[in-house]
Amino acid sequence: MQKRTDSTAPDNPMAIQTAELLQRRWLSKNAFEIELTRPSAFEFEAGHTICFIHESMERYYSVLSTPDDPTLAICVFYVPRGSFAPVLAHAAIGTRFNISGPHGYFTFKPSARAPVFVATGTGIAPFVSFARSGIKHFALFHEATSSEELYYQTDFKKLTSAYHPCLPAETTVAAMPEGMFQGHVVGCITTHLTRGTYDFYLCGHREMIRNVTLLVDDRFPGSHVYTEVFF
Ligand SMILES: Cc1cc2nc3c(=O)[nH]c(=O)nc-3n(C[C@H](O)[C@H](O)[C@H](O)COP(=O)(O)OP(=O)(O)OC[C@H]3O[C@@H](n4cnc5c(N)ncnc54)[C@H](O)[C@@H]3O)c2cc1C
Repeated sequence: MQKRTDSTAPDNPMAIQTAELLQRRWLSKNAFEIELTRPSAFEFEAGHTICFIHESMERYYSVLSTPDDPTLAICVFYVPRGSFAPVLAHAAIGTRFNISGPHGYFTFKPSARAPVFVATGTGIAPFVSFARSGIKHFALFHEATSSEELYYQTDFKKLTSAYHPCLPAETTVAAMPEGMFQGHVVGCITTHLTRGTYDFYLCGHREMIRNVTLLVDDRFPGSHVYTEVFF
């Protein structure tokens, strides 16, 4: 394992830096967005993550902000019995956290193939950063447990004509979002995406990532698949 230092060298993603909690905004009863100060010279690309170092824990979060934003924002699922998510949910404004980063490889790779973004829950976060950074002409499939958990749906409806919110078949929601697919993303992709080769970016729950990867092998051979497993 790589040794950490207290160095603030900006070109060392393992260096521990400090970020102060500026504000918290609840997106639903299960998820919230927080904004932190951005350490000086903290450079990142859309799709990168930051790591919180808290007591003996390390927890990674995908950055919602764009590389040009003055602050760092993340979107967090509130795991009620989680070890760290509740800390972020209840910390007082002004709390200073130790973070490192940027980390990861889930960045956008431009190509001749059309990009297809697929997310479950808070796995939408890197795609928010992609879209806010100016990436266009993408299809987005977002699966959630209820319409309230389809975070940023208002933004994405404006950003792409190929926004596909997916709610599992067993969901009983009174106010369904327009164009909602009643089922998992695999079924929605099968229904809405014409056969061809694409660049698939998959983020969130490992089961979705496994199932969509199998679908790509079967239905979209020659496509590229990039993945970010949250849990
Ligand atoms: C590369 C990477 C990027 C990540 N980015 C994000 C992000 O942008 N937003 C985010 O909310 N989480 C993200 N996570 C998950 C995050 O790091 C933590 O695991 C999560 O916040 C739970 O931490 P905890 O200590 O509270 O829970 P723990 O006590 O460690 O319990 C873990 C359990 O929490 C549940 N869980 C973890 N993450 C999620 C989630 N996102 N949605 C629903 N249930 C979950 C699962 O049941 C998991 O088994 C990311 C993980 C990785 C590896």
